Amino acid sequence: MASYENLKKDMSLCDGERIGGYANACRGQLYRCTACGAVGCRQTKEHACSKQGFSVAFKCYACGAVGKEEAVASGHAASKSAASTPERLANTD
Ligand SMILES: [Zn+2]
Ligand SMILES: [Zn+2]
Repeated sequence: MASYENLKKDMSLCDGERIGGYANACRGQLYRCTACGAVGCRQTKEHACSKQGFSVAFKCYACGAVGKEEAVASGHAASKSAASTPERLANTD
């Protein structure tokens, strides 16, 4: 049970690698773009992580949308976000 909890917890943390001299795991907070669904961490510098998804201004690397991020929470991320995505899209349009 404990390992299952850890697995869920890790889903909200970036498992990419820091780029630029260090080969450390990122472990940053993951965010999901509500415009395109891309998931990645946010870094203060461009391409600072192998799985970076957002710039410091929360611009999505995948689609270029700004401010469309939502924090990927541990536990309910999979089911909750799937249900809320259509509503968010409807509100945007
Ligand atoms: Zn990262
Ligand atoms: Zn996007």
